[in-house]
This record gives sequence, structure tokens and C-alpha cells, in this order.
Amino acid sequence: MSKTTDILQQEVDKRRTFAIISHPDAGKTTLTEKLLLFGGAIRLAGTVKARKASKHATSDWMEIEKQRGISVTSSVMQFDYNGHRVNILDTPGHQDFSEDTYRTLTAADSAVMLIDVAKGVEAQTIKLFQVCAKRGIPIFTFINKLDREGRSPFDLMEELEQVLGIRSVPMNWPIGTGRDLCGVYDRVKNQVELFQGDDHSTIKVQKVEGYNDPIIREMAGEYLHDQLCQDLELLDVAGDPFDMEKVQRGELTPIFFGSAINNFGVQTFLENFLQLAPKPEPRHSTVGEIQPTNEKFTGYVFKIQANMNPAHRDRIAFLRIVSGKFQRGMSVKHVRMGKEIKLSQPQQFLAQDRDIVEEAFPGDIIGLFDPGIFRIGDSLSQGSEVVFDELPTFSPEIFAKVTVKNALKHKQYLKGIDQLTEEGMIQVFRTVSFDDTLLGVVGQLQFEVFEYRMKGEYGVDVQLQRMPFQFARWIVDEQIDPSKFRINSTLVKDKKGNYVALFENEYAMRTAIEKNPTAKFLEMAP
Ligand code: GDP
Repeated sequence: MSKTTDILQQEVDKRRTFAIISHPDAGKTTLTEKLLLFGGAIRLAGTVKARKASKHATSDWMEIEKQRGISVTSSVMQFDYNGHRVNILDTPGHQDFSEDTYRTLTAADSAVMLIDVAKGVEAQTIKLFQVCAKRGIPIFTFINKLDREGRSPFDLMEELEQVLGIRSVPMNWPIGTGRDLCGVYDRVKNQVELFQGDDHSTIKVQKVEGYNDPIIREMAGEYLHDQLCQDLELLDVAGDPFDMEKVQRGELTPIFFGSAINNFGVQTFLENFLQLAPKPEPRHSTVGEIQPTNEKFTGYVFKIQANMNPAHRDRIAFLRIVSGKFQRGMSVKHVRMGKEIKLSQPQQFLAQDRDIVEEAFPGDIIGLFDPGIFRIGDSLSQGSEVVFDELPTFSPEIFAKVTVKNALKHKQYLKGIDQLTEEGMIQVFRTVSFDDTLLGVVGQLQFEVFEYRMKGEYGVDVQLQRMPFQFARWIVDEQIDPSKFRINSTLVKDKKGNYVALFENEYAMRTAIEKNPTAKFLEMAP
């Protein structure tokens, strides 16, 4: 092995790149903050909180963000822990949910699914889970807010299976819950972690012989110990055993119980997660799988954040490094444009602080200054021409008919729509019957950003009229009969000319599927 490959291998081995998926309020910000604290990045912990608390963001932040007091697109946070370098990809929730949220998941090698013990699996968790499940990446579950009254762990495990179709294996188990919570039993290390004090924050770790150990009885009392023994006996007999291969294929999710706000169970979770989570994975391309240890630098753009600095109208293209070593100032091939470009102003994202990066390795995310040359899915490579698989387009759920207010601006309007579609900002459709232009998005914010950019960058005022559709399905069929898509649905074409049916409700969708037995209805573009 050459020295370069050796170094690359070491850098790859220590990296973990993951996203936290959850429904708003499950505690993602809190957990992220605690994870960063373990990495010693205390300064950043404050920054993460500030993102939510402050109503006005930093001066070069996009105007629309200032208005709403949110961050438009996800950021990347990096920290070191126990010899690992950890990259957390933030997936925006709340109102700033967008197609970018989904795309960010394509840059992660694993996901942490955060669930509120009282609420269980919620709507946004399901959507994000499905995107991860399609990729088959490992998913680790953290059941949060154990200090509150919640649902029984068995109940939650059943819900994971029923709603998400994934089996689970608890790595630890609560001893009591809510007000009675006194700690967790670690099934891997055979130890008890005890909460102490009113705020549950002081933790005592006690090695034991097994869950039957009388020491636990002394610590937790008879009642809770009996309950624990009953539960764990049942799990030993009827639960799934831990199976690393199934975890790697995303068929089994290890569950950890804890309370992020009390910093309880977080460190154990982090340590186990870093052990079990995959290091940067290869990515598929036109020349086969590209291994991270391949010495030639390659990467792909998975997100473009526009107008972070309105004065300069610049953008940041987020690049996931797939292989090789990145060095500031290096020249790489922009494969789609067929030309060499110099990567001179790369930035790493630490919440809102942006630092210049000198070097980076597979699994890392860097932000590239983009004067308008990048599109989502673009590949960069050193030497040979490597093109990574196209990023998937996600089924939009919100639709609007778009028109231009001033007919004299028609040309700029078309140009704007064309470019913003290319960039992956919105999806555009034309109705088959009237040749109207419809836009489809995953989150409402995308419409707001679209309007804002049409005005700011193309000088065009657009009018958006919400349409009642909720579902889009790409249709693959020899013969499509538009008359079959009349009731609570409509037939449109995407920009590549594929037929897509839009439905107002599930009933209309089911009816259309029944009426068209020869057709395939796909959630993503074929
Ligand atoms: P996000 O929307 O998922 O980022 O959630 P936040 O981290 O902002 O948390 C939502 C609310 O839940 C906040 O009020 C947190 O203080 C609270 N929270 C987070 N973790 C815990 C926990 O372990 N226990 C309790 N009781 N509350 C928590």
C-alpha cells in the first residue's frame, strides 16, 4: 500500500457521516447540541441553539431567513470524539422542510432516528425514514424524553415494525419511566446507568453480572427490578438478536433509550453508534463503484444554497467527498461542463460559522463557492471522468399554478423557471389539457424562496395559485388515456416529457390505479 493510500485509509476509517431524522420537537436540536458538547465543541453548542432562538440571523444570511427567523437549508457540523471525526448533516424540519431535506439524506452513510417516547413514530419521521430505507442505509434509533411519562418500550418497538416495517433490537432498556425513571440497563456492557438527583443529571455507572444481579434490586427497588427482569427475559426469548449484517442492510435498527436534555444515555449512545455506524461508503458511478480510498479525488453536489449573500448573489454548492483527498486550490474536472475548475474558496459548515477548509477527506462535506456553475447532482473528479448516479427527484406534495404578472417579462420568467428547475429548486410540470405551468414542491418554503429568487435574480413578479393536489405519481404505460384522469386528478408532463398524474386525495389515486391495471405508478421519476 502506498503512503497516500495508507493515510486515506486512516482518514476514511475514522469518519462517520450521518443525519438525524425526526419530527419537529422530538429533541433534535437538543441532541445535536449534546453530541457537539461531547466533541468539545462547546462554542458550537450555543450556535445550534441560537439558530432557533434568534429572530434575526447573521448579516449575510438570506433575507427570507431573516424574515422567518429560520435557516433555509441544512448545515453540516463536524466534531472529533475518541479518535473519530463525526459529520452531522442537519435535516431541516418545521416549516423549512424541503426537497433539500431529502437530498441531504443521500449524502449520509447512516441515520439516527430520534423518537419522542410519548409520541412514537410521527409523520415527518415516516417520510424521512422512507428515503433512508430506499437507500438501505443503517438506521439507529434514539428514544428520547425518557424522563417524561411515555409509551411502553414494547409498544414503541411494535410501532416501528407496523408503521415503518423495520425490526428493532434494544441495546439498553429503561428501569422505570417518567417520574419513576431511575436509569437504564445496558444490554451490551451488562451495566446499569443510574440517574441521580432531581434533574436526573448525575450518572452513576455500575457493572453488574446480568439483569438478575441483586445489586440492581438494591439500587432500583424490588418493583422496578422485577419489571426489568420480566421485560428482559421476554426480550431474550422473543426479541431479535443483534445481527450486524441486518443492521448494515437497514433491516434491523438498534434502539437506545435516553433523555437528551438531561444528557442521559447520550454518551453511551454516541460511543455505541460510532462503533456500529458505517464509515464512508463507496458511491455508484458510470465507471462502477468508487471506493473512498481511491486516490483520485471525486465528489458530487447534493445541495445548492442560494443567495447567502444578497449583495453578491453567490451560492454555496454542498459537495460530498466520495474518494481521495481534497486540498484547497486543487484543480478538478467539472464533468458535466467538461472543464477544469479550481477549488479555491471551500468552506466547511459549523452551524452558522463558516471556516475555510484546507483539506478534507471522503465522508466530509465542503461548501464550494458557486458563481452559478453547479447543479444538483454534478460530479467533480480528478483525472478521469467519473459521473455519479443522478440524485433522485422526490415526489412533490404541494402544487401551484404559476403565471407571470407582467407579460412583458415573459422571457425572463421562462429563463428563471428553467434555471431554477435545473438547479433542483422546484419541479415543473405542464398540464396536458391546457398547457398550464404547475410547480411542485415538498415544502411550502420552496415556493417562498422561488418567488423571492424570481424577483431578486430575474426581476419577475410571479403569481402562485395553490392547486388542491397532494400526490404525484409518474406513470409508465404503453397507452395513456387522459380521460381516465379527470376526477380529482389531472395529467401533466414533467420536464423530460414523462407523464405524471396528480391526485387530490388517496381515494382518487387508488381509483386511478385500479382503472389502469397495465400502468405502473411510481413515486419518483423513472
Ligand atoms: P427539535 O424541534 O427536534 O429540534 O426539538 P428541540 O431540541 O428544540 O426540543 C423540543 C423541546 O423538547 C424543547 O423544549 C426541549 O427542551 C425538549 N426536550 C428535548 N429533549 C428532552 C428530554 O430528554 N426530556 C424532556 N422532558 N424534554 C426534552
